[in-house]
Amino acid sequence: MRRISSHLLLTPQGLLPGRIVTVADDGRIVDIHTSRHLDGEAGVEFYSGILIPGMVNAHCHLELSHLRGLIPSGGGFAAFVEGMKAAPRGCGVEAAEMWDARMWSDGVQAVGDVCNGVATFELKRRSPIRYHSFVEIFGAAANPAKAASLRDEAVGSGLRATVTPHSLYSLSRENFIAAVNGGAEDQAAGLTENSPLSIHFMESGFEVSDPAARLVAQTPKDRPVLLVHNCTVTQRDIDIVMDHFAAPVTWVVCPASNRHISGLTPPIELLRKNGLRIAIGTDSLASNDTLSMVKELLLLAPHTAATLEEMLGWATIGGARALGMDDAIGSIEVGKSPGLTLLAGVDMQTLRLTEKARTQRII
Ligand SMILES: [Zn+2]
Repeated sequence: MRRISSHLLLTPQGLLPGRIVTVADDGRIVDIHTSRHLDGEAGVEFYSGILIPGMVNAHCHLELSHLRGLIPSGGGFAAFVEGMKAAPRGCGVEAAEMWDARMWSDGVQAVGDVCNGVATFELKRRSPIRYHSFVEIFGAAANPAKAASLRDEAVGSGLRATVTPHSLYSLSRENFIAAVNGGAEDQAAGLTENSPLSIHFMESGFEVSDPAARLVAQTPKDRPVLLVHNCTVTQRDIDIVMDHFAAPVTWVVCPASNRHISGLTPPIELLRKNGLRIAIGTDSLASNDTLSMVKELLLLAPHTAATLEEMLGWATIGGARALGMDDAIGSIEVGKSPGLTLLAGVDMQTLRLTEKARTQRII
């Protein structure tokens, strides 16, 4: 049992001072209470900064970790696609293991991880991070049956995994439809609820014409969906998407990756003003030099009027909801096991992130 406190605690009721969180040995939060005399409390670990729940990286490709630094930035989207084609095949598992450990020590609790092969299965099974593996149907040579067997292999090895289409532009209509209609199969493979899709969406002007109309024409309205990137999304696209889906839609933004590839910035204020569910992803090390969630928040901050509390919600409960893990993680509440992460480097007067902002796992 550990009793932990800090200047501020991120709770569903806001950023609160003077709180002590009691965490059981198995990571479950058993008590949160207010203390007027923190100085006089015996056996309390006090941390300088803000305690937040473990973060959720809603979009990553861990199997591309060995590509760090290999594809130059600023070439635009078409050049990035060519760079990926020329990049070394296979996965440096050692790089993936290193970055998995780094995310854990940074305080990441769960990851939505796209995969095209088995390379990362073993490390994800052993990792303390909770992974949802999105087995991707990708490219002209896409094979839905192969993806389904990869999903079965992942589930068989103890991972949580579902099939998803890479994007509208990279797949034939037939393969896209096959990918988004696999919900029943995913359920048969061990997921109890209709499983989420993770679709690269409107990442650049390179995309097929009217991706929003194509998305809603081809995707069942009861599939929860993570739309990833959204750089060129307009109000019209949002209206088309939100009019269609009955299941939750999460708009995942990966600003560091966008900056690396195309120099675009996701329209975070537009997403916010529409009251949409927002989550944060780092994307892969092919288009980012780190898998730091704080770096993503720092890149978004100049482009949004969101408070720190709201932005931290995107990085925590937003991702947990998107991955269907919010019953256990994503917020600091009694009964959950969300992990505890210290966010330091915040201007405590203005409650803004400074350039020195960083996170560190406490539990
Ligand atoms: Zn991606």
